[in-house]
Amino acid sequence: MLTVNAYGATSSTEPLAPMTIQRRDVGSHDLLIEIKYAGICHSDIHQVRGDMRGGTYPFVPGHEITGIVTEIGSAVAKHAVGDRVGVGCMVNSCRECSSCRAGKEQFCAKRVFTYLGSDVDGSITQGGYSTHIVVNEDFVLSIPEGINLDEAAPLLCAGITGYSPLNRFGAGPGKHVAVAGLGGIGHVAVKLAHAMGAEVSVLSQSLKKQEDGLRLGADHYYATSDADVFRELAGTFDLIVNTVSADIDVRSYLSSLAPEGVLANVGVSLKPVSLRLVQLITGGQAIAGSLIGGIAETQHMLDFCAEHEVGAEIEVIPADKINEAYDRVLASDVRYRFVIDIASLH
Ligand code: NAP
Ligand code: ZN
Ligand code: ZN
Repeated sequence: MLTVNAYGATSSTEPLAPMTIQRRDVGSHDLLIEIKYAGICHSDIHQVRGDMRGGTYPFVPGHEITGIVTEIGSAVAKHAVGDRVGVGCMVNSCRECSSCRAGKEQFCAKRVFTYLGSDVDGSITQGGYSTHIVVNEDFVLSIPEGINLDEAAPLLCAGITGYSPLNRFGAGPGKHVAVAGLGGIGHVAVKLAHAMGAEVSVLSQSLKKQEDGLRLGADHYYATSDADVFRELAGTFDLIVNTVSADIDVRSYLSSLAPEGVLANVGVSLKPVSLRLVQLITGGQAIAGSLIGGIAETQHMLDFCAEHEVGAEIEVIPADKINEAYDRVLASDVRYRFVIDIASLH
C-alpha cells in the first residue's frame, strides 16, 4: 500500500481539503501512475455537493487524469515505465458482457468509476486530485505526442463526452451541429465538431463568450436568453449536443431540430420534463442520452485530437484554489477547464 497526498471532500457542504489516501499494491496487470494534472469536471462538483445521490465521504474526486507511468506489474503488456498516459471516468469493468465486448464499457453493469466505485480490493475508488493512482492497464489511455499533458487532461472526460455523441450521430460535412453550453465539455465539442467538418452553432446563455466560440471553430453563436432565438432557429439542427449542467427547456430545443434531428443529452438534469410525443413524430426527431465513451473510442478521440491539434483551453491552478474554482464553474465563469497542477500536492 502506498499512502499519497490528495485533496478531497469531507461532506457536501464543507470546502474540499488536503487529506491522505491509500493506493493498493501494484498487481500483475496494474500500472502505478504519477499524476501530473487533473481536470475539474462539473460532475466532480455534482458529486461533492450530493446533487445526484447520497454521498459517501470522505472521497477524492477527479476523472480527468494525465501523468507518467512509474511502475508496472509483472504481466503488463500495453504500457511501459515512462509512458505519458491518461485515466478517465472508469478504471475497470467485467470484460465479458455484451457492452464490454462491444467496447462500451461505460454501460457494463460491473464498470467501476474512477472515484466512488468498488475497487478490486473491496475499497472505494479515489480519483485524480492526488499524487499517484494504481489502475489496471486496460483502462489506461496513451497520450499521443503533440498534446501537452495539461491540455490533454480534460479530454479524458470532457473530450470523450463530446466526441461520442458527435461520432454516434454522424457529425460531419453537410451536418449542422449545435453545442448547447460553452463550458468544459462544450468548448471541446465545438472544436471537435468543427474538425469533423460540420457547420457548428453554439447555444449559450448570453453572448459573453461569442468571440471565443467563433475562435474555437463555431460558425454561429446564439444567446438562449433571447426570447426570439428558438423561433429563428426552428427546424435548423441535425444534432444538438446538450452539455448544459442545469435544466433546459426541452421543447424549445426540440423545435430547433431539423427533420430526423437528434437532441443528444450529456448535461445532467434531474427535473422531469413533459412534452407531447407528437412533437417528435411529425419531424421524426429523437431524444438520446450519452455517457462518456468506451475505452477504445477514448483512444480514437485522443488520436483524433492529436491529428487535428485539438486540446482543451485550460486555466492551471494549484490544489489550494480548488474551492474557488468550483465556485467559478458554478457561476459559468471558466474558460474553459480548470486543471490542477498536481505538483502543488507534493
Ligand atoms: P461546465 O464547464 O460547468 O459547463 C456547463 C455549461 O452549461 C456552462 O458553461 C454554461 O454554458 C451552461 N449552463 C450552466 N448553468 C446553466 C443554466 N442555469 N442555464 C443554462 N445554461 C447553463 O460543465 P461541464 O463539465 O462541461 O459539464 C456539463 C454537464 O455535463 C454537467 O452536468 C456534468 O455533470 C455533465 N457531464 C456528463 C457526462 C456524461 O457522460 N454524460 C460527462 C461529464 C460531465 P454557457 O455559459 O455557454 O451558457
Ligand atoms: Zn467528467
Ligand atoms: Zn461488462
